[in-house]
Amino acid sequence: MPVCRDCSVSISVQSRTGRCRKCSLAVTNADPEIKRRRREGIRARYTDADYAARRNAQLHRAHMAARRDPETARRLNQNIHIARQRLNDPDVRDKFLASRRDAGMKRSATCMAWCPPDKVEEYRRLTRSKRMHAEDAKRVILESLTPFEKQLAKVKAGASISEVIPFKRRADPDYSLTGGASRWMAS
Ligand SMILES: [Zn+2]
Repeated sequence: MPVCRDCSVSISVQSRTGRCRKCSLAVTNADPEIKRRRREGIRARYTDADYAARRNAQLHRAHMAARRDPETARRLNQNIHIARQRLNDPDVRDKFLASRRDAGMKRSATCMAWCPPDKVEEYRRLTRSKRMHAEDAKRVILESLTPFEKQLAKVKAGASISEVIPFKRRADPDYSLTGGASRWMAS
């Protein structure tokens, strides 16, 4: 019976890695390239608002379930205690608060990317004074835009612009062609 090359636990003869499941997982998880690809994959999935909301709710439920275990709850409380102690250090606290402000501004800019700057006030008026639901206010604003503003908003929210050249001028034309390169915005 072969054994794991890292921990000497006996492993299956069919093992391709020469390691037990636990050690082979540890090797995979330590690979910087795999770590990078995972991070990118997670980031890409989180750009989908529905996915982010579902996943956050799932993580919240898992967290609450984990808290029911006394040992886990004790460890989490200890982490909170350490974080609080660190925040009592004025230097650390200032840095932390500055990072939260930056994060908030970045998040707000990302969330409002769909909205033309001159419509932001109107959007805020709808959601705050009129107490409209954020999605309804967004729809109202988007419907009020001209087709060009709509395209611009889509591009600002991440859509790409592609250039389509329908045909080329002949090298030596014996008649005039009126066409040319035209730009289309892809949604
Ligand atoms: Zn092992």
